Amino acid sequence: MNQKNLINNQFVTGEGAQAEKVLDPATGELIVEIREASTAQVVAAVRAADAAFAGWSQTVPRDRAALLLRLADAIEQRGPEFARLESRNAGKPYLAVLNDEIPAIVDVFRFFAGACRTMTGAVSGEYTPGYTSMIRRDPIGVVASIAPWNYPLMMAAWKLAPAVAAGNTVVIKPSVQTPLTTLALGELIAGIFPKGVINVLAGRGSSVGTQILAQPQTRMVSITGSVGSGRHILEAAKANIMRTHLELGGKAPVLVFDDADLEQVVSGLRSFSFYNAGQDCTAACRVYAQGKIYDRLVADLSAAVKTIKVGTQDEAGVEMGPCITEAHRTTVKGFVDRAASLKHVEVTAGGKARAGKGFFYEPTVVAGALQKDEIVQQEVFGPVVSVTRFDEVEQGIEYANDSVFGLASSVWTRDVSKAMQVAARLQYGCTWVNSHFMLVSEMPHGGVKQSGYGKDLSMYALEDYTAVRHVMVKF
Ligand code: NAD
Repeated sequence: MNQKNLINNQFVTGEGAQAEKVLDPATGELIVEIREASTAQVVAAVRAADAAFAGWSQTVPRDRAALLLRLADAIEQRGPEFARLESRNAGKPYLAVLNDEIPAIVDVFRFFAGACRTMTGAVSGEYTPGYTSMIRRDPIGVVASIAPWNYPLMMAAWKLAPAVAAGNTVVIKPSVQTPLTTLALGELIAGIFPKGVINVLAGRGSSVGTQILAQPQTRMVSITGSVGSGRHILEAAKANIMRTHLELGGKAPVLVFDDADLEQVVSGLRSFSFYNAGQDCTAACRVYAQGKIYDRLVADLSAAVKTIKVGTQDEAGVEMGPCITEAHRTTVKGFVDRAASLKHVEVTAGGKARAGKGFFYEPTVVAGALQKDEIVQQEVFGPVVSVTRFDEVEQGIEYANDSVFGLASSVWTRDVSKAMQVAARLQYGCTWVNSHFMLVSEMPHGGVKQSGYGKDLSMYALEDYTAVRHVMVKF
C-alpha cells in the first residue's frame, strides 16, 4: 500500500506536523497512519507542476490522449486491487466499487483522452480589414485539485482527466479520511506521465490544501466538497485572482406526481437514495409526493427501505455500508433525532445507529416533514430520505426550488408534457425524468446556486480547464 506523496515522480514520505489515522469505517479499525505533506513539500510539488507545464502544455492532444489511455488500461487491469482498497478505506460494498465505480473511472479517462482531440477554438475570420482573428482554447497552468471522501478515486478521475487532457499540470489532494486510492494511483502515474505533470499530496485542507492555494504558481483550483469549504476556497482564490471550479453540496428534490408509476418510484428511490449510504451530493433525499400518491409512497418506500441489506464490505448481498466516520454518523443521527422530535414527523423506517462495530446508520425514511423543517432544508449526506406532501403542480415546483442548493433533481410522472414543463422550471444543474442519479462521461455534472458552477465530465469540463484566447494576425 503506497503511503507516500508523489512529487516530480518521486515518492516521498510526508514530513508535515500531523499524522492522520486512516480508518476502516465498517469496523472503526486503523488501516494506516499517514503523515501529511510539509509546507516545503507543497512548495516542491507546485514548483514541479509549474516546471512541467512548459513542456506538457505544448504536447499535442494525440500524445496526451495516449498517456491517459495507458492510465485507463492500468486502472482497469488493477481494478480488483483498487476496488479492494477503496472499499476498505471508504467502507463501501466491495462489489459495488468493482462493478459500478471502477468501470466509470476507467471510462472517464478514456472519454477525456478522446475528447481533447476534438477540442477546437471558434472559427477564425476578419472583423476589421487586414486582420484575421482566431480563438484558441489554451491550458491555464498549475491546477490544484481538491477531492472529497465520498468517491475518492472517482473524484480524482473527474478532476485529473480533463485538467491533464487540456494540457494543464496538477497537484491533487485527496480527503484526509480517504487518501489511499489516490496515493495508489500515484504509482501508476509515475510510470506513465512525465515528471511533475501530476503530483499527489496527502493532508488536511486547512494545512496542505491552504498551502497549495497560497503558492503564486497555482493558477486554478477545482474543489468538490461542502459549501463551507467552497467559501474558504473563494477567499483564498481572491489573493491571486485564481480561477475557481466549485462542485459543492446538494439536496436533490424528487417530485413524484399522482400519475407516477409507484413501483418504479419505490425501486428507484431504494437505490438512488441509499447508494453509498446516501453520502452522495446527488442522492435522492428530498422527496415530494403529491396528495393522492403520498400515503402509498410512504408505506411502500418504508417497506422497501427496510429490506436494504446493510453490512461490511464483503458480506453476501450487502447493499449499503457505513457512514464515513463516527463524527459524521453523529451528525446524521442529530438530523434524524431533531426531525423525530417534531409532532408532525413520523420516522417510518430506520432512525437508529446500528449497535456494534463500525459507523453504521440504518436506512431511514422521515415522513410528514414540512418544507421549513431542517431535515428538508439542510444537507444530511447520509442514508436518510424525507417525504413531504404537496398538492398542486405549482406548489411542487415551488418546494423543489426552495433550496440554497441547485445540483440535481428528478421528476416522476407518466405525462411527458408535464415532465418537460416541470423540468424546464427546476433550478438544478441536472433533472432526471423517471430516474435519478445516472451519470455518463459525455454529459456535464455540476450545479447552480450554492452547489457551485464548475462542470465535471463532458466537453464543458474541458472548457472549464482552458482559457479562451484571441490571436489576431495582420496581413
Ligand atoms: P469537505 O468540504 O469537508 O472537504 C472536501 C475537500 O476540501 C477535502 O479534501 C478537504 O481537505 C478540502 N478542504 C477543505 N477546506 C479547505 C481549504 N480551506 N482549502 C483547501 N482545501 C480544503 O467535503 P467532504 O466532507 O469531503 O465531502 C462532502 C461534501 O462534498 C458534501 O457537502 C457533498 O455534497 C460535497 N460533494 C459534492 C459533489 C459535487 O459533485 N457537487 C460531489 C461529492 C461531494
